[in-house]
Amino acid sequence: MKKIIKQCKNPECKDDIIDYKSSKRIYCNDSCRNRAGYLKRLVENKEFDLVKKHTKLNYQALEKCIEKSAFEVDFKTLNILGFDINYLTNPKLYKIDNEVTSVYSIKEIQFYYNKTKEIITIIKQ
Ligand SMILES: [Zn+2]
Repeated sequence: MKKIIKQCKNPECKDDIIDYKSSKRIYCNDSCRNRAGYLKRLVENKEFDLVKKHTKLNYQALEKCIEKSAFEVDFKTLNILGFDINYLTNPKLYKIDNEVTSVYSIKEIQFYYNKTKEIITIIKQ
């Protein structure tokens, strides 16, 4: 029976793996496996750093709003302040005005947003 030719999963190699004993084999050799693992971790760390960086910026933007006693702020204003809605994580569900709402928190600041009105509401402490 002819074996299927597989491609090395190391993104920098992608050579054909013609001769393999186990069907589970996905790299040509150990150095390809190590390299692929290293590259994968590099990407994961970058994403993690990016989320961390933007969470900090989001927090600073919300802090500025609170300083100005602005508890309902539109997306545009927040964008100018450096807020990025794409980096919000782990919402908790609450019932607010009879509607189930995703409430986000960064440190002590809690807030939720209305996508249709494009407004972020900061919950007063
Ligand atoms: Zn390889």
